[in-house]
Order: sequence, then C-alpha cells, then structure tokens
Amino acid sequence: YEAKSQGAGPQLFNEGIGGAFSRKLRLERELRFAAERGELQLVYQPQVGVESGRLEGMESLLRWRHPELGAISPSEFIPIAEETGLIREIGSWVLGEACKQLGAWSRRARTVPAIAVNLSGKQFMAPDLAETFRGIVRDAGCDPHQIVLEITESFGIVDMDSVIGVLRELKGMGFRVAIDDFGKGYSALGYLKQLPIDILKIDKSFLSELTSDPKSDALTRAIIQMAQGMELRVIAEGVETPAQMARLRELRCDIAQGYYIDRPMPAGELEAGYLRSPQRAK
Ligand code: C2E
Ligand code: MG
Ligand code: MG
Ligand code: MG
Repeated sequence: YEAKSQGAGPQLFNEGIGGAFSRKLRLERELRFAAERGELQLVYQPQVGVESGRLEGMESLLRWRHPELGAISPSEFIPIAEETGLIREIGSWVLGEACKQLGAWSRRARTVPAIAVNLSGKQFMAPDLAETFRGIVRDAGCDPHQIVLEITESFGIVDMDSVIGVLRELKGMGFRVAIDDFGKGYSALGYLKQLPIDILKIDKSFLSELTSDPKSDALTRAIIQMAQGMELRVIAEGVETPAQMARLRELRCDIAQGYYIDRPMPAGELEAGYLRSPQRAK
C-alpha cells in the first residue's frame, strides 16, 4: 500500500484517507469524555397534531459541540459510539437528560407532552438494559409514561426474541415504544406483528416525494391505513412544505414533525415557543 501510493498524484489521496482516519480516531478518543466535559446537548423538535396543530410530543436529538471541531453530526458520531460500545453510556446520559428536562418543565408548565428518545439497536445487546433504564427514571423521579423510546428496524444484529422481551419489560414500566424510519431499508412487515409498539414513524424519504411521486403517495397512504388498522399512532417525519402538510391532512395522518413545523431547538426555545406557563394559562 505504501509503495503503491508513491506513484503519480498519491499525495491528496493519502492525506484524504489519513485525514479521515485520524479524525475518526480523534472522535473515538474524545467522545469518551464529551458528556462529562459538557459538550453534549439535547435539542428538541416539536411534533404537532396534523388536524389541531397542537404540540403532541417532541423528539430529543443529540448534539455534540466539539471545542475545536465545532458541531459534529449524529450521523457521524452515533456510528462511532456504536462501534466503540460508548453508546451504552451515552444512551443512559440521553435518557437521564430527557428525564431531568421533563422534571424542570413539569414544574414550570401546565402540560408537558412526552419526550421521544432514540435508542440504538446496540443498546439492546446489554442484557440489563431494562434494569438500567428503571434505575435512571427512578433516580430522576421521572414517569416512564412521559417517555417514548424510538427504535429502528436495524435490529438484525441482535436476537429478535430478546429484543421483544426487553421491550415488553420496558412497556411494563410504562415506557411507550415507537418504530422509527419505517419503510427505510428492508422493512419486514413480520416485525410489526411481533414488536410491542405504540407509534409508527414514517421515514422522511416518503415525505420528500409525497407530492411529486404517485408511488410515494400510495405507499404513505398504505402505511397510514395499516398503522391505524393496528391502532398505532402515526407520525410523519421530515414534513417540509405546506403541500405535504395538506396531503397528510387528507390522508388523516395523526402527527407531523419536520422543518415546516419547526427545527430541533434548545430546551429554552421549545419552552418559550410551545409550553404554556401556569400563570399565563387561564
Ligand atoms: P432520526 O431519529 O430519524 O431523527 C430525525 C432526523 O431528521 C434528525 O436528524 C432531524 O434533525 C432531522 N429532521 C427533522 N426535520 C426534518 C425535515 O423536515 N427534513 C429533513 N431532511 N430532516 C429533518 P439529526 O438530528 O441529524 O439526527 C440523525 C439521526 O441520528 C437520528 O435520526 C437518529 O437516528 C440519530 N440520533 C440522534 N440523536 C440520537 C440519540 O440521542 N441516540 C441515538 N441512538 N441516536 C440518535
Ligand atoms: Mg428518531
Ligand atoms: Mg427517523
Ligand atoms: Mg433513526
């Protein structure tokens, strides 16, 4: 490899690979301390009723602000956290943080809808996930009914039966479960029958073509009907335009989330924009 890269114009190639490699190593190394250094933050994206326009929930999304490298996208650091096993600690930090936020909001606002937290399939590889989560909500004085756990179908890596067992245990404590990014990749409908879920989130790839591609429209319609037949709540993700919102209304989708409604934002902004304080509410 070294000898070959001595040829014509290998410099850039070498630096490119080397650069990406050392960035990844650096992120791996520094992600370990990101939480205790206060570099991690949750932002919250509103989810509103398609018909009512009212806040029905919100999704917490993790942000890493590196002191030198700046904002690092979850699509870059979550896979690193998964590979290194750090996702377990980070996942616990995320749940604890969401619980603390719920506590703070419930003291200041009249009604606070549930917060959705993303889970990685890798977290299910820990046999004590349910016990860990039980401890986190207990320590934070948080009611699990206020938390939605978002999972994706990328569970191929783990044993399906054990995932179902853990999900049942979590649901027994009061957590609700959403299937995220539904329809992306190779969704097996058999999963839907087996997984104990409450909410189905339609992947944003359907939304982006909802009003331009009849096939996406047909699939979105079918997913909504299927979900309602199974008595699941349906959330459309990635809603960006008024036309998409209008179509979701026609299709009787329950809830919408996306830039058309609002971006993910820090807790204070969400509170100011969406939560009513008890004094103002009469
Ligand atoms: P996700 O769970 O499907 O989250 C939705 C993503 O769509 C978020 O990207 C959000 O910012 C983005 N989004 C929201 N509205 C729109 C829209 O109208 N159009 C488009 N194109 N995108 C929109 P983000 O925050 O970059 O997160 C990416 C992914 O990283 C998440 O996808 C989730 O899989 C993962 N992730 C984020 N936070 C966590 C976490 O705390 N734990 C774990 N395990 N994964 C996380
Ligand atoms: Mg999600
Ligand atoms: Mg999603
Ligand atoms: Mg996802």
